[in-house]
Amino acid sequence: MKKNFIVAIDGYAGSGKSTIAKEVAKRLNFFYLDTGAMYRAITYKIIKERINYQNEEELKRLLKNIKINFKEEKGKIRVYLDSEDVTEKIREPEVEKLVSPISAIKIVREKLVKLQRNIARQKNIIAEGRDITSVVFPKADVKIFVDCQLKERAKRRFKEAKEKGYKIKFREVLKNLIIRDKIDQGRKYSPLRKTADSIYLDTTNLTIEEEVDLVKSLIEYLKGKR
Ligand code: C5P
Repeated sequence: MKKNFIVAIDGYAGSGKSTIAKEVAKRLNFFYLDTGAMYRAITYKIIKERINYQNEEELKRLLKNIKINFKEEKGKIRVYLDSEDVTEKIREPEVEKLVSPISAIKIVREKLVKLQRNIARQKNIIAEGRDITSVVFPKADVKIFVDCQLKERAKRRFKEAKEKGYKIKFREVLKNLIIRDKIDQGRKYSPLRKTADSIYLDTTNLTIEEEVDLVKSLIEYLKGKR
């Protein structure tokens, strides 16, 4: 059987990696795996069920039967937690605040890495997150690390939040990004880092169209060479 083709993208929050991954996946007909959505779904469930996530037994029980699925509906990917559609709920500020500390917990990461590798079996995929190039798919066919200056990332996230109608100040968005970067980079298990074999892409001065074109061309070129 022909081996599936895996594109792994890591990078900071607001760097553009989700937009790039989503759009390139659509254009190349690859499966888009948003691993951040999976960490957000677990966080949402912890909040909803009022779980004390520092209590390992309680957390283990929650993780044991959790089901996270992605379904394409009307050209958009929707996220399901058990049988609930949580696509919008996992983007709320309450989840945004807690997701990084929860993502730093070892048993949460172990559970999700297993699920992510299962989803990727026999599919051409573009996966994005914080440990995709380093831990989940270290042997991916294409590895990219997306970077962008902090202020520009905060501007992008602020614009998104406003468009969704969230009442949030620019400096809160900026502060939240700084805190998340710090936790994601400093954590003991699978910290965010650029692996030596990842291609570095700085999107600070690029338009979305330029980023997408660049990554799409790169994948097509490397796919052709394999
Ligand atoms: O990409 P997104 O902003 O949705 O990710 C939310 C959070 O989930 C990140 O800030 C990070 O703490 C965590 N995450 C992670 N590993 C991944 C994807 C996301 O730790 N592979």
